[in-house]
Amino acid sequence: MSFLSKHIAYLAESQSLAMAQRVEQLRRQGIDVIGMTLGEPDFNTPEHIKQAAQQAIADNYSHYGPVKGLLSLREAISAHMPAYSADEIIVSVGAKQAICNAVLSLVDEGDEVVIPTPCWVSYSEMVKMAGGTNVFVRTSADTDYKLTAEQLQAAITNRTKLLILCSPNNPTGSVYTQDELTQLAEVLIQHPDIFILSDEVYSAICYGDYKPSTLASFTEIQNQVACINGVSKAYAMTGYRIGWMACHNREIVKACAILQGQYLTCACMVAQKAAEAALTGSQDCVEQMRKTYEQRRALIMSLMDEIPEITYTVPQGAFYVFPDVSSYYGKRFGNKTITTSDDMAEYLLDQAHVACVAGSAYGEDRCIRLSYATGEKNIIEALKRIKKALTQLKG
Ligand code: PLP
Repeated sequence: MSFLSKHIAYLAESQSLAMAQRVEQLRRQGIDVIGMTLGEPDFNTPEHIKQAAQQAIADNYSHYGPVKGLLSLREAISAHMPAYSADEIIVSVGAKQAICNAVLSLVDEGDEVVIPTPCWVSYSEMVKMAGGTNVFVRTSADTDYKLTAEQLQAAITNRTKLLILCSPNNPTGSVYTQDELTQLAEVLIQHPDIFILSDEVYSAICYGDYKPSTLASFTEIQNQVACINGVSKAYAMTGYRIGWMACHNREIVKACAILQGQYLTCACMVAQKAAEAALTGSQDCVEQMRKTYEQRRALIMSLMDEIPEITYTVPQGAFYVFPDVSSYYGKRFGNKTITTSDDMAEYLLDQAHVACVAGSAYGEDRCIRLSYATGEKNIIEALKRIKKALTQLKG
């Protein structure tokens, strides 16, 4: 007999977490595993932000604060997102909680939530927590794994409540252009009862001509959109756990505040002061990290080009590449045949000692996700090992 509630029993364990545990095990055995699974910047938090956290401790930011977050932080966020006043912003424990607040505030039992795949692992589990139904729409490499207006239109039913769109995307690195968003917005204008969560946590990390873009920029639907962002990825502050939702629809902001007030009170005050320093201080650190990722992106792509039969879409943002390795499916190593992305991830871990995340975790079994939030030396060695392991497969 289990004491667990149905809601908890339905939830899946994070696959990337499970992979991290396997890596830890191998490392304890003295095996030199290269980790390409990291979903976070490999940089340390910039010094001026760390100092602000220390100052906040010295200044006794040790008390409960306002549920929606410190006004000074919300004003700093508003200065970064001028379309939103401080009142329209609610600070949470990471973007993750901001998304979860919104999903729990919006989704009822039986409501449908449209999620283009490949997608970040947690959306669907949050929808399950709310009792909603996930409607996954499979995108393809032909459209850079972006949802098209036709696909969106076809997925909408009279039970559709929410669309979750992530750009720049984890795991594909795709970034929607303003034109692509315009086409989606044209569909959404016809459906004023559908709400949109725009997950923009990687907005500071875009490459080439790609710029952060959001469905919230379309005035006709701006009351239907909540933007999610945070300091984790842009400022290398994942452990500080500060994120937020910005939304013109005050009813939704209020609902999230009530929810958060009951189960959280407020995000850590010291971390809020650090986030404020991140947003109000020099943004050079953000640009430096972005440039480094851009160089690593060029490196990893050039190395992947040397591996036969791997195809990939050029990442336009974030720090992931999502190569299609399915042409190796059906091939063998010893008596083991690789038939899925899980098999491939396991094979690369066991034979190449490179850890990646199987695409199945994101709803695309043809691919694996490699994070290039790691140094160039690691990238070069990892890709050398992957190439060797793949060319060893027979079949
Ligand atoms: N959204 C996406 C697409 C992510 O990849 C992540 C973290 O990996 C988050 C949200 C959560 O970020 P945070 O650290 O702010 O909770």
